[in-house]
Amino acid sequence: MSSTVTVTNIGGPRLTLGFDRFERLDLDRHLAVHGKLYMPALDDLVKMCEQVDMRGRGGAGFPFARKVMAVAAQITPPDDEVAELLPGEGADRRRPHEDAVIVVNGAEGEPGSSKDKVLLSRAPHLVLDGAVIAASALGTQRIIVAVEDDEAARSVRAAIAERHMPARVVRLAERFISGESGAVVRAVNGETPIPPGVKVRASEFGVDGCPTLLSNTETFAQLAVLTSLGPDLYASAGLEEEPGTTLLTVGGTHVVEAPYGTPLQEVLDHCDVPPNLGVLVGGYHGGWLDPNGAALAVLSRSGMRAVGGTVGAGIILPLGQGSCPLGEVTRIASYLAAQSAGQCGPCRLGLPDVVRALTALSDGSGSVEDVRRAAGIGRGRGACSHPDGTARFVLSAVDAFGADIEMHRYGGSCGLPVFGVLPLPIPTGAEGRVAIDWSRCDGHGLCAYLVPELIQLDRYGFPVVLGTDVPSWLERDVQRAVAMCPALALRVTGSMPGAPVRRS
Ligand code: SF4
Repeated sequence: MSSTVTVTNIGGPRLTLGFDRFERLDLDRHLAVHGKLYMPALDDLVKMCEQVDMRGRGGAGFPFARKVMAVAAQITPPDDEVAELLPGEGADRRRPHEDAVIVVNGAEGEPGSSKDKVLLSRAPHLVLDGAVIAASALGTQRIIVAVEDDEAARSVRAAIAERHMPARVVRLAERFISGESGAVVRAVNGETPIPPGVKVRASEFGVDGCPTLLSNTETFAQLAVLTSLGPDLYASAGLEEEPGTTLLTVGGTHVVEAPYGTPLQEVLDHCDVPPNLGVLVGGYHGGWLDPNGAALAVLSRSGMRAVGGTVGAGIILPLGQGSCPLGEVTRIASYLAAQSAGQCGPCRLGLPDVVRALTALSDGSGSVEDVRRAAGIGRGRGACSHPDGTARFVLSAVDAFGADIEMHRYGGSCGLPVFGVLPLPIPTGAEGRVAIDWSRCDGHGLCAYLVPELIQLDRYGFPVVLGTDVPSWLERDVQRAVAMCPALALRVTGSMPGAPVRRS
């Protein structure tokens, strides 16, 4: 994987130091490039992180010091065994510090992101340094690295063996929603890797029910760089209020390390990106910028917020010029709808409605208001952030692509094809879609009753099928609907596991 990804930097490398000389930094190369590990005590570590306002690099941008302190509050301090022996008020509920768990979240279910796979594959010791620093401060040795990618898993296992350290590698499913912290904890615990549906703080009840410090891969690498450089030198790059560098993935295959404060246009020029109809920042839960917004955007939380964007996990996806914006957005919204966990109404019914509204807008039969209504209906009511993130993606597209949408509204098309420039996972072969044999269907409508999420009836009583893959949580209902169709008209195309085979 990493060999297909270009890695460069703007303003000098930190996390990517040594990448120009070495494809992978084994332990000797890592020590030569980054030097020896410095492991501050808990208080010093927290102070350092607060001084540079270290934020998680997984998308939410949560202050890392607060995460560390939240875990520390759940355990007996490493240097205070007395608290364990003589539990006082509140202290009796704390766990021994050895129980705390450090989880490096290497999930990168976003198809447009490569930075964490690159770090794990090429600089695994930098990531492990960060995990060891956090583990040492909290007084534990329990480190788990959760990864999706084969190459990353091999690289991390080799690095763990080189260091003779007691860490574990856990493989994660490559799925959009599997990177959410609750989903990662569930995966490590051997449960279905989907968000838990209710808010559970990993710091209180994480891996095996223990206090767990879970953070993104790049965050741990940044922590290692911070302790190595010290806060003052760390803050010599970036903005005063947002110091340091961050990793971006541009167009899915170009990873760039850049200091906060870099204009987005400089990043696009650095990557030889031609002029665009729009740029998606923050990935498929992020926001679209029109060309004006992209020209003004600055790489920082406040800079992106000022133009309606977000840094998120550093994903930047330029649309280019030749592909239909609304078609691309509908294609990704369909993917996101099929990726849902199906745990709540906004996911089960809301996301398919968003896809229907976008499809109608594309063919000229719908309206912008319908899209806004469909996207807004479940906001803030989802069991996880997936419905809200998808709504943000869709609503920002409606704002950014007004001219294109007008052409669709009045002409049913903008005249541009949909090339599929926005990346999606390579099909595994297990995807299935619902289809109808119109020579047989006589409009009973039973299918729409059994799987209303995917099939609705038109005004003549005939089924209209949503053009998305069948979500995994809906497979059984779809199999039942296919088996029960009285006219044997309903079928599944593709190779969805367990789907009844129906031949004409
Ligand atoms: S159940 Fe079968 S026959 Fe009835 S509407 Fe659906 S596809 Fe057509």
